Amino acid sequence: MEQVYLSWSLFKRDHEKSLERYCPNCGKKVVFQDSLIRRHNANGKNIYKFAIYKCPEDHTWNRKLAVYKARSHQAEQTVEKEERQFEIETINMEELFKRKVKMVVIEIAQVEGSWRLDKLLSQQIENASRTQIVKWMKEGVILVNGDTVKSGVLLKRDQKISIRLGCYKVINDE
Ligand SMILES: [Zn+2]
Repeated sequence: MEQVYLSWSLFKRDHEKSLERYCPNCGKKVVFQDSLIRRHNANGKNIYKFAIYKCPEDHTWNRKLAVYKARSHQAEQTVEKEERQFEIETINMEELFKRKVKMVVIEIAQVEGSWRLDKLLSQQIENASRTQIVKWMKEGVILVNGDTVKSGVLLKRDQKISIRLGCYKVINDE
């Protein structure tokens, strides 16, 4: 396989990954990290959506993210579906090399909020720092609609990001 096509829908994140908060069990202010585990609790007419946060001592805190009307079973499914949309594929460059993939093309299907390309790719490409991503953008390994772009560029709907793995290999073998 020479090329891999991905389609990403980018939605505004409704929470921060970590935040400082008083932990009653620790008895002091500590940094809670989002475990990325979500829980939906139905309570009569409403469905509550929680994010499970953990303090350094593993004490949990359920952060309420949203409340939905539970008019029907369908409402619950909508919540589950929405949650899945936050998950976009991570890219493992080494694995793609092994599969002899020459290029990864990512179509930006939807954009909500502002998304920096360098930041997004440093999160989605495994073992790649933001510095590395910026370097690849400068070197033309990463293109947007076929052109080189500035590192701080914000993504727009229908853009196509290409990661030219052939170039990446040459650069990294030097
Ligand atoms: Zn604690």
